[in-house]
Amino acid sequence: MNRLKSLIFLLVLTTLYYCKAPTPQSEPKALVADTTGFQWRTEMFADIQINRYIIPGWEKLSPQQRQLTYYLVQAGMEGRDIMYDINYRHNLEIRKALEQIYRDYQGDRSSADWQKFHTYLKRIWFSSGIHHHYSMNKLQPEFPVSYLDQLLQETGTSLSSEALDAIFDPTKDPKKVSLDPDSDLVLSSAVNFYGPDLTQREVEDYFENIIDKDDPTPISYGLNSRMVRQADGTVAEEVYKVGGKYGAAIEKMVGWLEKAVTVAENQQQAQALELLISYYRTGDLETWDEYNIAWSQATEGDIDYITGFVEVYNDPLGYHGSYETIVEINDFDATERMKVLMENAQWFEDNSPLLDEHKKDNVVGVSYKVVNVAGESGDASPSTPIGVNLPNANWIRSNYGSKSVSLGNISDGYKMASAGGFEEEFLLTDEQRERSKRYGSLGDKLHTALHEVLGHASGQIEPGVGTPKETLKNYRSALEEGRADLFALYYLIDPKLIELGLVPSDEVAKSEYDIYITNGLLYQLRRLQLGEDIEEAHMRNRAFVARWAYEQGKTDNVIEEVEQNGKTYYIINDYQKLRELFGALLREVQRIKSQGDFEAARSLIEDYGVKVDPEIHREVLDRVATLKGAPYGGFINPRLVPVLENDQIVDVRVEYPEDFTEQMLEYSGEYGNL
Ligand code: ZN
Repeated sequence: MNRLKSLIFLLVLTTLYYCKAPTPQSEPKALVADTTGFQWRTEMFADIQINRYIIPGWEKLSPQQRQLTYYLVQAGMEGRDIMYDINYRHNLEIRKALEQIYRDYQGDRSSADWQKFHTYLKRIWFSSGIHHHYSMNKLQPEFPVSYLDQLLQETGTSLSSEALDAIFDPTKDPKKVSLDPDSDLVLSSAVNFYGPDLTQREVEDYFENIIDKDDPTPISYGLNSRMVRQADGTVAEEVYKVGGKYGAAIEKMVGWLEKAVTVAENQQQAQALELLISYYRTGDLETWDEYNIAWSQATEGDIDYITGFVEVYNDPLGYHGSYETIVEINDFDATERMKVLMENAQWFEDNSPLLDEHKKDNVVGVSYKVVNVAGESGDASPSTPIGVNLPNANWIRSNYGSKSVSLGNISDGYKMASAGGFEEEFLLTDEQRERSKRYGSLGDKLHTALHEVLGHASGQIEPGVGTPKETLKNYRSALEEGRADLFALYYLIDPKLIELGLVPSDEVAKSEYDIYITNGLLYQLRRLQLGEDIEEAHMRNRAFVARWAYEQGKTDNVIEEVEQNGKTYYIINDYQKLRELFGALLREVQRIKSQGDFEAARSLIEDYGVKVDPEIHREVLDRVATLKGAPYGGFINPRLVPVLENDQIVDVRVEYPEDFTEQMLEYSGEYGNL
């Protein structure tokens, strides 16, 4: 289970809400994108909000790289219908009928029933089917069946009685994926990986027979197929390939991939693409493995992608993959930040507040990969992961490596779409709010870079002391995350960052300090139910860092608790003193790790990072409830438009569509392959 999809929801709820503001010319240009006036959130309906993302760095790609991106995105889009059909056997029929009604209906489009009909259709687009993308429960239309009958008649649209039942009968296929161990998982799941009436037992027997358990390099059995019972009673796989199941869509995908090969950035990339094409033609899972090995090793170049039948979460038995595509381009800004920090890693180590014996003589920064999405399809769209770690086959990962990426512009899109709410509710002064809106995004990115590249790489354990896993046990993760955070916080306000061109001023650090303290002491409590302790390592880390700094700074009033209109706020009176406190705690946390001091780790975390004041907790929950935002978010994709010269594509430009419904209808028209 490598996919970070489950983190999307978490991210929306956990990340602080920042906002970028207009950027004056004097600031380091490469580090801040000017997105003044860009509408990040376009609409909300049901439990969904629709956001947009931009593609930073598009202008830094060559025309050939932009063509490559375009072909990969087109290939991905051609498979869009596959995901609808995988999710449920009636989905495509229902979607097509409802889209026809939406296009052709001449009657009253302002009525309440029409609005409900439109919302239902939007929810289907969002979930690629009539089951909720996250809860897996069937969506309930809020208009009566008589209304749909009327719309069908007036637009001359046909819909089978089975499909109509599927929409309105809550007892029919209520759950896309059932994980109820007392039921037959295959029979009780609506997902279309299995033909009607196929049982869990039949499927398990089938795989029991074909899987070679002694094979150290097993293929991903069943990954690209649907299973059916044949006329003679035996079970067989319908393989997804050109000329096979979903052949019409896959053939178009292959057509675009063949164009992509001609503009590949390098030989390894081209070779991986050729293996992918071969796999789509044959459906051969050995070729899929060869492709994944080639893809894992194709690490040069600015363009990358994931595509295919990849994740198996939608199969209650975990064999069959859902279709998805994500096309990624290098995040040039993040790469530049990382490079600058890597080059100066030793300076940071030498000048840190650590005890000398705990500093590394030769520190090497940890690289991490941030990419920006250029287009997504299938199970990755409109609802998208924020990070991907592939391939899934363990033997390929350990023998040939893997790729782990964060989708930078998607994370940004989520934050920006919710911007403003956090500042208005949890920051007290106009100065704090303005600073956060202006520098919050940069402060967050720099904090992450310092945390990942230098924080985790810093420090050393004293000779003879066991590993943190042995010495610090259950407190190891929270302590380690706190250590990396403290390293980042300590350096954020260092003039060295201005000298290195990473920040324009210490306003960035002040903004991040405001947000960090407010989050650690207040805002993050929204993720807990009343009465719960803090358990999760990152939450414990933020709590103990913020709480310790608050308590230790009390005599100098470094951080002040302010009550206003029944609400609690935190004001930082002295940012430099706070930095010194962060430095002192960093030295102590490093000492605990270096010496394996379990008792000190336990009291630090238990005293400052676990308990929650119930009154403050209740207040935070009340205040969060007033913030606008839906539980689930997804994205409108940018539109890549080819630039033609003599009927040849010579370049590609980007447009940013604003309307979700229009994009969905456009996709269904252009990529309606099944
Ligand atoms: Zn970390």
